[in-house]
Amino acid sequence: MHGLNLRSRHGGTGPAAWAALTLALGPWCVLPAAAQSIAGDPKATEQWSPVPPLVSPAATIDAAPSDAIILFDGRNLDQWVATKDHSPARWSVSHGVLTVDKALGNIETKRLFRNYQLHLEWRVPKGITGEGQLRGNSGLFLASTGPGDAGYEVQILDSWRNPTYVNGQAASIYKQAPPLANAMRKPGEWQSYDVVWTAPSFAADGTLKSPAFVTAFHNGILVQNHFRLSGETVYIGTPTYRAYERAAIKLQAHGDPSAPISFRNIWVREIAE
Ligand code: MG
Repeated sequence: MHGLNLRSRHGGTGPAAWAALTLALGPWCVLPAAAQSIAGDPKATEQWSPVPPLVSPAATIDAAPSDAIILFDGRNLDQWVATKDHSPARWSVSHGVLTVDKALGNIETKRLFRNYQLHLEWRVPKGITGEGQLRGNSGLFLASTGPGDAGYEVQILDSWRNPTYVNGQAASIYKQAPPLANAMRKPGEWQSYDVVWTAPSFAADGTLKSPAFVTAFHNGILVQNHFRLSGETVYIGTPTYRAYERAAIKLQAHGDPSAPISFRNIWVREIAE
């Protein structure tokens, strides 16, 4: 707390010291004009409510916290459907691990989301073959806005000693933003993504009101820092926005011939608006 010592950090009795005196004695003191200009009620800028909810952190940061919606905990795909016809998702679940079935196509959550924090773990199989985009390609679509690959994709790829275009490597916002670092672990090891998604918002006539933003960590390393998206992910051409309200989270079954990747421990925390 502030005492009555008028010596400021700069060793004098200038404005900083007068400010300290103001805080110590209250605004009713008569002070020189320079000090009065910063006088006022400090309580005016204190916010006391609403009180943020208590959330117990998990013993390890990878496990789901108390208020998370569990999307996959190793047991079943009850939270997921096939993107193409919304029938129950049928990728393989074995020993707590979900593995892509490329023949069956993309899967997505039954639940729809707007803004959220998401945790997901993925693993490229040991001994993976192929090069560039044809090696361990999958994807995390932060909002599935239609069939197939429609939406906003954070790339999943084997980027361990596997050069490709940087805005298509692991943890890129596909064709929009390379990751700030390559935090890739070797094939056979588990990777984590932690993503904060701020959905775009649209006016009643469908025009863009505010763009989407992504912050992401790959294995705990910041890879996307509040990146502003220019629209939905497109393979060819320029991204554009299409209005939506809430959307599923989608996982990609990419058509490359390399061995399929696996997932585990997927959870999400919705962010109140
Ligand atoms: Mg992909």
